Amino acid sequence: MIDTHAHLNNQFGQEANLDKLRWVVLSSGCLQDSKDNLKLARTNPKYRPAIGIHPQEIKDNPIKLEKLISNEVVAIGECGLEFTDGVDRDKQIALFRFQIEMSQKYNKALIVHSREASDETIEILKSYQNLRGVIHCYTGGKKRIKRFLEISDSWYFGIDGNITYEAGLSEVVKNIPKDRLVLETDTPFLAPIPHRGEQNKPEWVEFTYRKVAEIWNLSFEKTEEIIDSNASRLFNII
Ligand SMILES: [Zn+2]
Repeated sequence: MIDTHAHLNNQFGQEANLDKLRWVVLSSGCLQDSKDNLKLARTNPKYRPAIGIHPQEIKDNPIKLEKLISNEVVAIGECGLEFTDGVDRDKQIALFRFQIEMSQKYNKALIVHSREASDETIEILKSYQNLRGVIHCYTGGKKRIKRFLEISDSWYFGIDGNITYEAGLSEVVKNIPKDRLVLETDTPFLAPIPHRGEQNKPEWVEFTYRKVAEIWNLSFEKTEEIIDSNASRLFNII
């Protein structure tokens, strides 16, 4: 099993039990997170750091982000658009484009966050060629799956623990091609049943794998094999 999206800076990373996991992608929301994740990744080879600036952190300077790039970085993100009230959309778009271009320049996966901005996100991503990335915590519904798939042959959907209690998400997963799905916890958020409401942990991605196995009507082992090979292709990790 692989957790493709966790926020483990602060104390969570030291406490996590990674025995059952092959690796965990450490998502970053700001410059400080990015530095912390690079540091945490040195404590355990199963930690694979991403560096990035979330759309709500537009105060951070992307030039400084680019200085943190190194071989150990597996992805840029999370970055994207969040068009809630009163935000500076133009600034968010410029920051997003900078990070998309960084992922291309350094051949890293792109981790995209999108809230209240699905159509604008798709439009921007489609203006680039050959992207390799994931729409994290996918909430675009059944109707946008096809449009996200048109971004590139290396575009993936990240699904979280809320699939264990949101019936609509099961319907979404049925419509995502099996070779384009990866699973994530978004630790410390979105803990799955039977831990709903608690602080999430990477090891609980297992409940999401089990739910997908049930939806696909496949064994846990076969499901794990498919999902893990998707994550390996996405992040270019063998
Ligand atoms: Zn996140």
